[in-house]
Amino acid sequence: MAKELEHINVVIIGHVDHGKSTMVGRLLYEAGEIPEHIIEKYRKEAQEKGKATFEFAWVMDKLKEERERGITIDVAHRKFKTNKYEITIIDAPGHRDFIKNMITGASQADAAVLVVDVVDCVQAQTKEHVFLSRTLGINQIIVLINKMDRVDYKQEEYDKCKEAVSKILKMVGFKVDEIPFIPTSAYNGDNILKKSERTTWYNGPTVFEALDALKPPEKLVDKPLRIPIQDVYSISGVGTVPVGRVESGILKVGDKVIFNPAGVTGEVKSIEMHHESIPQAEPGDNIGFNVRGVSKNDVRRGDVAGHPDNPPTVVRDFTAQIVVLQHPTAITVGYTPVVHAHTAQVACQFVELQKKLDPRTGQAKEENPQFLKTGDAAIVKLQPTRPMVIEKVKDIPPLGRFAVRDMGMTVAAGMVLDVTP
Ligand code: GDP
Repeated sequence: MAKELEHINVVIIGHVDHGKSTMVGRLLYEAGEIPEHIIEKYRKEAQEKGKATFEFAWVMDKLKEERERGITIDVAHRKFKTNKYEITIIDAPGHRDFIKNMITGASQADAAVLVVDVVDCVQAQTKEHVFLSRTLGINQIIVLINKMDRVDYKQEEYDKCKEAVSKILKMVGFKVDEIPFIPTSAYNGDNILKKSERTTWYNGPTVFEALDALKPPEKLVDKPLRIPIQDVYSISGVGTVPVGRVESGILKVGDKVIFNPAGVTGEVKSIEMHHESIPQAEPGDNIGFNVRGVSKNDVRRGDVAGHPDNPPTVVRDFTAQIVVLQHPTAITVGYTPVVHAHTAQVACQFVELQKKLDPRTGQAKEENPQFLKTGDAAIVKLQPTRPMVIEKVKDIPPLGRFAVRDMGMTVAAGMVLDVTP
């Protein structure tokens, strides 16, 4: 029987034109994920055009042409397998989408692959993406010094760029000694699946080997129980049934639970998933659970269920690192937009702007700034206008991320660094 592979999400980051999409195509191709009929079609075309060898670059160009002509091709599913993992590649099309998706947890990445053109080396978005990845809690990164064909695979060019990249990684707190740096050509396929003969001076892993060496994501089963409530039903003959997704911990039939900030407690009589009764639920499960001792009006969307001995944290205020994505004017102290965290939506006031950060490095740039504008990264203190549950991102990641919404748009995204219960 085929071994079940563990799943991880990887985000491809790097400056525009440094070869991210080409690298994604190359990874899928080497992993055998580009459908055979597409390869076959292009193999034929290549032959007809008198091309001696069938090249991956040819496939990429063709795919691009067809995309530009508006033809969608079924390589859209961006999944491939290594020996150890099934990897989903997270798309980072626009810079802003990338930040928003990452922070709101729509697509939590377990690792980042940074693609750097060996000639242009470190550029603006290289720095920004590295800093953001770090801020968003991505602790594993693989660096591909790409387009090695442009410099005839010379080691000195690789070393030069590697050093520049190391510097910015160090600046944001990565341990550079633990990071694999790999000389690649997405175009020619060097050091992707197999070691390249053009880089005999290189002794490190290939890209596939480096992906296999990633640590698997932390298991949320070992964390305290948190179930943000999406809805509450009252079912005749059964009773009160809150519905939600288990984000962390384990819920068992017979457990005592507390709903915060409501503060009510009850006992779990049954758990249901996909219309079937189950004895326990774990992270990722969407469940309804019948609770004795709680009436429908005691609990509402935005409450979080947990165990009474480690209850969901109700905060008076919280300190967060945010990135301002779009604001028509400026954010100042007193501004009170709506914070969306897990299933809760609560108006929160900016009570302190503590530090403005350099968006390229994360270093403090200004203490107590007067205002924050689009593109700024900052440390701020927020005060909910009514009780809400939110957690430190390092304790329970899914409950520590939030989006700030106002005027029908996502103004900022952030992560909770500290809380005052
Ligand atoms: P992205 O904007 O980072 O996704 O970059 P693309 O993948 O679109 O690549 C930008 C350009 O660089 C394209 O013209 C690619 O063909 C080219 N390119 C990508 N990888 C390589 C490589 O390894 N070597 C060379 N010479 N060109 C490459």
